[in-house]
Amino acid sequence: MSLRKRINLRYTLAFRLTLWYAGVFTVSSCVAFLLFYILITSFIRERTDQELLSQVNRFSTLLVTEGVEAVKNDAVIEAQAAGIKKVFFRLLSLNGQVFSSSNISYWKDIEINEMAIKELLQGSSHVFETITISDHKDEVRILYALLSPSIILQVGQAMESYSRFLDAFKGIFITTMTFLIILAAGVGWFMARRAVSGVEAITQTAQSISGGTLGKRVPVKTRGDEIDQLAMTFNQMLDRIQTLVIEIKEISDNIAHDLKSPITRIRGIAEVTLTNGKSMGEYESMAASTIEECDRLLDMINTMLMISKTESGVDKLSREEIDLAGLVREACELFEPIAEDKRVDLSCDVPNKSYLVGDNRMIQRMLSNLLDNAIKYTPVGGTVSVSLSENDERDAVITIEDTGIGISPSDLTRIFDRFYRCDQSRSKPGIGLGLSLARAIARAHGGEITATSTPNQGSTFTATLPKSFPSRS
Ligand code: ADP
Repeated sequence: MSLRKRINLRYTLAFRLTLWYAGVFTVSSCVAFLLFYILITSFIRERTDQELLSQVNRFSTLLVTEGVEAVKNDAVIEAQAAGIKKVFFRLLSLNGQVFSSSNISYWKDIEINEMAIKELLQGSSHVFETITISDHKDEVRILYALLSPSIILQVGQAMESYSRFLDAFKGIFITTMTFLIILAAGVGWFMARRAVSGVEAITQTAQSISGGTLGKRVPVKTRGDEIDQLAMTFNQMLDRIQTLVIEIKEISDNIAHDLKSPITRIRGIAEVTLTNGKSMGEYESMAASTIEECDRLLDMINTMLMISKTESGVDKLSREEIDLAGLVREACELFEPIAEDKRVDLSCDVPNKSYLVGDNRMIQRMLSNLLDNAIKYTPVGGTVSVSLSENDERDAVITIEDTGIGISPSDLTRIFDRFYRCDQSRSKPGIGLGLSLARAIARAHGGEITATSTPNQGSTFTATLPKSFPSRS
């Protein structure tokens, strides 16, 4: 079953993003509609109130100029003119008794609000109220105002435009919101799918890689967005994993190969001795050979462990002040007899003293490996020159130059790899770990080892060590 099928749509990032997008979009649209609604309704209400107040002003003036009868007549005519279902007028005494009104047949359910009259008597110039009457379509806005100290005017107006606006608004709101929600969900889904499509590509690549194809890479678009960066980082990680896997494979192949030879030899010696061995001497010789082979094996395993520990920093280097000049001199003295045996001329050019902070034992091991190689790969009559100098008072530079068999340019790039041995040196003893360990030691001190060589003419190995190496946490 594919991953896509197994994932419930509800739990997908695209689905949740779509929901969020549509949700936020809907809520903001509703808020915008609500604000618009409040604005328009308050505007309509204010306009109605202004109209009602202007009626009061007109009647007040009429009362003063032409008397109460003129007001009564005008109220009837005005209501007639506007439409008896739209507006009505009532004239009330201060106790709330109606003493005159326009045609009130349509408005008979509207009662006198005693609270409003009370408020007027307490000094308010006018009082508004909004009421709804059963069977009437529109709300009614009513104004109570004092026309004179003894006459109250009650004027009411159906809020027709308000109801019309509400109906229209409801229609527009429902249609627009339905359209907007569908649009928001569609756009949200499209955008979310676009955004996560890169992640899906990475997931698919990761899945196919777990199926065994380490060479696959996620296609990187040129947008340079977060998904592209994720894809590039993922590809870089794959590069590193691929290199590591290849290295591990090579190393394990080499280990298997290098372990096989001594074990086969041990087995061979034991077999021959068991079949043919008759004397105690033969058994002793078998034991000695077995010990020798085991020592070689142990040496190889220990060196491998030491390289790993030095590279990873598990084994902390000691930080002691060392006289490097003395150390190089001692190493040369140690290898002098071996060089003499091979009739190789070993010269050592070091200053009186040269101090640096480092791990004495490790630097000794590094020097031994380099010197051992130089003598081992230099034929009879050749020379090996060791020198020590300082570079800007900052680094100590040890150079070991030989006139040996040399290394071809293609081999030169690989001689520091674990177990790598050049073809022409396979006749010599060795396991191909000496240079790896030497470089690991130099690097653990914050330094480096480099090599230059000309085949059949000789090689130069240069170890540069800082006089005070940075501590590794
Ligand atoms: P080995 O145990 O084979 O000497 P190293 O890691 O010390 O392993 O060296 C790796 C390979 O580099 C050697 O097998 C040899 O082919 C080459 N090499 C190292 N030092 C020299 C040198 N001074 N001259 C020529 N070849 C060298």
